[in-house]
Amino acid sequence: MELLKQRIRQDGIVKGNDVLKVDSFLNHQMDIALFEEIGKEFQRRFANCGVNKILTIEASGIGIACITAQFFHCPVIFAKKTQTKNIDGEVFATQVESFTHGRIYQVIVSKKFLGPQDKVLIVDDFLANGAALEGLIDIVAQSGAQLAGAGIVIEKAFQPGGDRLRAQGVRVESLARVKAMSEENGVEFAD
Ligand code: 5GP
Repeated sequence: MELLKQRIRQDGIVKGNDVLKVDSFLNHQMDIALFEEIGKEFQRRFANCGVNKILTIEASGIGIACITAQFFHCPVIFAKKTQTKNIDGEVFATQVESFTHGRIYQVIVSKKFLGPQDKVLIVDDFLANGAALEGLIDIVAQSGAQLAGAGIVIEKAFQPGGDRLRAQGVRVESLARVKAMSEENGVEFAD
């Protein structure tokens, strides 16, 4: 998506070798006009897939998922991060290793909101090693819902998550794929 790539080139800040900061337009201050274009593009790519639920993970996926849902006319569910060890039977739960914080946490979704009648599009801001996406896919599988695929705003294609999940048969659609990046040379896109 050219508009997004331009914005990343203009306002993205590379930290070290593997962190891209986009907090001026994507995940702290949010550019809603850009989110609308992102939502429309996800809708174009997953049109006619019968999506009736969008699933994301708190916190930075929520804004993108909400704007996207306006184009699918469906609800958004966000997986909640929780410290609680004793989870009762009312939730689907899975473990996720955080890319940005390096620790493992549990995420949960209430059983009330996802089930075999649902066709789910997962939406998230970044795809890196794939842990967040795998956790969400696990929750969809536990619920018996069908997975339409995953809409990712920025995939760091030099990290293994995207290739691994595609090899497992998951439809992953990324709007910007970063092939390489460095503090010196900025961001290079894959296509
Ligand atoms: P993964 O689980 O695929 O390793 O990482 C995906 C999650 O980590 C995303 O939900 C995102 O919040 C965060 N993340 C991964 N890489 C980056 C990055 O380069 N920049 C930012 N801002 N977040 C990232």
